[in-house]
Amino acid sequence: MRKVKTFKQYFALLLSLALIISAIGINVMDVFASNDPYEINYEYVNIKDMAAANVSEKSTDNEGLLDGLFDGFAGDVTLTEVEMTPPSSVELPVKKDSAALVTDRQIWYLPTEVGRVTQSPNYWHVALDITSYRGTAEVIHPVANGVVSGIYTDSAGALIVTVLHNINGQKYTSQYVHLSRYADGLYVGKPVTINDALGQMGTTGNSTGVHLHLAVLDCALFDPNDNNCRDLGGWYRYDKIRFQQGYIGLGTMMNVPGEWYSR
Ligand SMILES: [Zn+2]
Repeated sequence: MRKVKTFKQYFALLLSLALIISAIGINVMDVFASNDPYEINYEYVNIKDMAAANVSEKSTDNEGLLDGLFDGFAGDVTLTEVEMTPPSSVELPVKKDSAALVTDRQIWYLPTEVGRVTQSPNYWHVALDITSYRGTAEVIHPVANGVVSGIYTDSAGALIVTVLHNINGQKYTSQYVHLSRYADGLYVGKPVTINDALGQMGTTGNSTGVHLHLAVLDCALFDPNDNNCRDLGGWYRYDKIRFQQGYIGLGTMMNVPGEWYSR
C-alpha cells in the first residue's frame, strides 16, 4: 500500500512539474507578444502592436496599390520595372582611405551619407542603429534599388518605410524606422533607386534620440505569399530564426563600417 501511495505522490509531482513547465511556456509566449521591451537601449517596440499596426498608404491615388504590388509577385509589372543594379552613370562617393568599401558595394549601399553604427544586430534587435551628426537633416536612401512596399507608423508613432528588393531572384526587405518625415511623393509601389530619398532621420516612436533603425531581411514583408514574413509578426519571428543561423542583415551582404562620411 505504501508503494502505491508513493507512486501516486510521484505521479502528482510529475503532473505538477508538467503544469509548471507549461505555465512557463505560456509566459515565454507572452513575453514575445506583449509589453516587454523589444529594443535594447534605444527603442521600445511592442511586437504585438507592430503586428497589429495598420499598413497605411500615405500618398493619394494609390488605393489598392499594395494588392497590385503583391499580385505582381507572380512575375510581372511592378517588380520587373525596377532596375536592380545601380545606374552606371552615377558616381558614388567613396569614403577616403577605404578601398574595401568600393569593391563591397555593387548592389548594397549604406543608407546615409554620414553614419555611425551605435548598435549592431543581436537576437533581440536584428538591425543596425545608425546616428548622424546631421541629425534630422540626414537623408535616408534605400540600401539597394527596389520598390517601396510599406509606408506606415507603428503604435508608438514611428514613421517607417520598407523597400522590397529583388536581387538575382532573391527577395529582400529593408526597413527604415523612426523617420522624422517621409520623402515627398513616396507611395507604396514606387520604384526607388539607391539615389532616391525615403525620408529623413528622426526619433519618432519609441526612441531615445535621432537615429535610423535599419533592418534588412531576406524575405518579402507584407507579401501574403511569403511564408516567412507576410506580416510584421512573421517578420520578427523570422529575423530571430535567421539571426541564429548567422544572418546579420545588411552586414551579411556587405562590409558595414562602424562609421562613414559618404555612402
Ligand atoms: Zn534599432
